[in-house]
Amino acid sequence: MNAPFLPFTRPSIDEDTIASVADVLRSGWITSGPKVQAFEAALSEYCGGRTVRAFNSGTGTLEVALRLAKVSRGDTPITTPLTWVATANVILEVGATPTFVDVDPRTRNIDLDKLDAAITPHTKAIIPVDLAGLPVDRDRLDAIAKRHGVRVVEDAAQSLGASWNGKPIGSTGDFVSFSFHANKNMTTGEGGALVLPADVDPALCERLRLQGVQRFPDGSMDVDVLGGKFNLTDIAAAIGLGQLKRLAAFTERRRQLARLYFERFDPNLGLDLPPADFENSNWHMFQPLLPKGTDRGTFIAAMKERGIGVGVHYPALHLFSLYRKLGFKEGDFPVAEDIGRRIVTLPLFPAMADGDLDRVCEALRAVLGR
Ligand SMILES: *Cc1c(COP(=O)(O)O)cnc(C)c1O
Repeated sequence: MNAPFLPFTRPSIDEDTIASVADVLRSGWITSGPKVQAFEAALSEYCGGRTVRAFNSGTGTLEVALRLAKVSRGDTPITTPLTWVATANVILEVGATPTFVDVDPRTRNIDLDKLDAAITPHTKAIIPVDLAGLPVDRDRLDAIAKRHGVRVVEDAAQSLGASWNGKPIGSTGDFVSFSFHANKNMTTGEGGALVLPADVDPALCERLRLQGVQRFPDGSMDVDVLGGKFNLTDIAAAIGLGQLKRLAAFTERRRQLARLYFERFDPNLGLDLPPADFENSNWHMFQPLLPKGTDRGTFIAAMKERGIGVGVHYPALHLFSLYRKLGFKEGDFPVAEDIGRRIVTLPLFPAMADGDLDRVCEALRAVLGR
C-alpha cells in the first residue's frame, strides 16, 4: 500500500521543452515576442488556417471574445450552469447578465432541446462548454445560432484535441476559446488562445488584449478602446510550442485510458458513467457520478487514504453565493444540480500507466463495494 500518490491529473513536459524555455530566458526577450508569434502560427495551422491570438488565460480569451461580439449591459447571453465558474464570471465582467439553460443528463452539456426556447432578442451570444472534452453537437448548435442570428463563443477550454465529425474543435464555428491552464490537455502553465471569425479585425482583438494600445511606425501611439492586460509571455509560448507537437499523442493516450476504464470498471458499484465516445471526445476528464446518497467528502477522503486523488469539476455554479445574490436558487436547474452534487473526477492523464488505472478500479471496489 506504499505506491506513490496518484493525482487526478499531471502535466507532461518533455526535456526539449524545458530546454526551449531556458533558451527564451537566456535570449533577453521573455515577454510577448517571437515565440508568441510562432505559437499563434502553429495554433492557426492546427485550426485549419483560421486566425488565432494567444492570451495569458482562457478567462481573458472569453472576456475579449464577448467584447468583440459586442456583448454588454442589457444583454443576457446563454450558457450552462455546469462549468468552471469563469464561463459565467466573464459575462458579469462585461456588464451583461447570464441566462442558464440546464444540461442534458447524458452528455452533461447544455441541453440543445431547451436552448431554442431560451433565446430572446437580448441573448446576443451563446457560450457552449464541452465539459470533460465531450463536444456539444456543433451541427445542431450552429443551426440554432444561425436561425436566431446570435453569435457563438465556444468555451473549448477543455476540448482542444477533440473533434466533431472528424474536424478538430477550433477549425470550425464562430469564436473558439482555449485554455492552457496547468490541468488542461496541453498547457503553458497559464494561458489561452482565441480563434477569430473572419468578420472580426485581429488588430482590434490585439488592442483589447493589451491596454487598447495602437503603435505607429514613427514611435507614436494611440489608445482608442479600453483594453485589458492579457498578453502571453514568450516563456509560456515556448512551453506551448512543445506541448502542441504532442497534442495528438496526448489525446490518443487519453482515449486508450478511457477505454480501459470502461473495460475494467466494476459495473456493480452503482456509478453512472459518461458517454463512451472515443471519436470526438479528448477525454479531458473521466467523471462518473457517485450513487445517489453517497457522501462525496467521505468518498474523496477514503480514496485519498488509498493513494488516489479525486477532483470535483464542478458544482452547479448558479448556487454559488455570488449567483444566488442575482436571484438564482436551488431547483432552477435540477439536472445540473444533481450532477454537480454527485460528479467526481478520477485520475486520467497521458503519463498514467495501465497499472495506475487498475489501482483506481481496486480502490473504487474497496470504497464503494458492499
Ligand atoms: C479552465 C477553464 C476556463 C478558464 O481558463 P483559465 O485559463 O483558467 O482562465 C474556462 N472555462 C472552462 C470550461 C475551463 O475549464
